[in-house]
Amino acid sequence: MKITIQDVEFSYNGFPVLKNVNNKFEKGDLVALVGPNGSGKSTLIKCMNGILKVRKGTVLIDDRSISSFSPNELAREMAYVPQSENRKAVLNVFDIVLLGRKPYINWKPTEQDLRITSDILNSLNLDHLAMRDFNKLSGGQQQSVYIARALAQEPDILLLDEPIANLDIRHQIEVLDLLKSLSQKGITVIIALHDINMAARYASKIMMLRDGKVFAGGGREIITKENIENLYDIKVKIIENNGHTFIIPDGLQKHH
Ligand code: ADP
Ligand code: MG
Repeated sequence: MKITIQDVEFSYNGFPVLKNVNNKFEKGDLVALVGPNGSGKSTLIKCMNGILKVRKGTVLIDDRSISSFSPNELAREMAYVPQSENRKAVLNVFDIVLLGRKPYINWKPTEQDLRITSDILNSLNLDHLAMRDFNKLSGGQQQSVYIARALAQEPDILLLDEPIANLDIRHQIEVLDLLKSLSQKGITVIIALHDINMAARYASKIMMLRDGKVFAGGGREIITKENIENLYDIKVKIIENNGHTFIIPDGLQKHH
């Protein structure tokens, strides 16, 4: 589904964080949301899924404002994987993923809900963890379980806040490959991402945020030396190899 961010402004207790943010993503886009710490990525993601109410502007799914959806209706269209901090749940893995079915469940899970839960665990190679206590899993396993729960919602739009921040490089690739294959199936995937090289490699669209404003938006062509240097106030070298762009940090900008 299409998602449109229209003139969005947001403040925490009168402190403005998002300022006139606009963008539009199409079905099947894999969007990397990049920018320095504190630039508003997490806040924007929370505004996109209605956890935070925008002060001005709207977020539209296709042409309908998210404020007109009931919580269950919205959860059937859009799923959110929060940042990995503070994850505690006294539940086993199967039950956590089954929670993703909540927007479809009247008063008890059906055979279909249980089957979808099993199928998702299976497709993410998590079967062997199904009965394990969530709190005793590694960070990478917990991350996969949260993605599984989001998929159990059968969403058309998937929002993830720094999904690879705590993963080793192999698990980073596993998660990004999975997200790419979901986008190829027509799910619109939007990821806050710190790793600019992974963004360059995986994303079909990039949105750069700085100080709560859209600094640049577009395809991979916006990953230029100038944009990256000005976005983060650093110096970089760019290496092109086999059609891929690599950004190598080369110090801080002296005038800052
Ligand atoms: P990012 O995800 O890009 O690091 P955030 O969206 O988390 O940025 O934060 C954007 C700004 O909003 C920062 O200045 C941050 O300090 C502030 N902020 C974030 N969450 C809160 C909150 N719950 N209350 C007050 N200010 C917040
Ligand atoms: Mg954040």
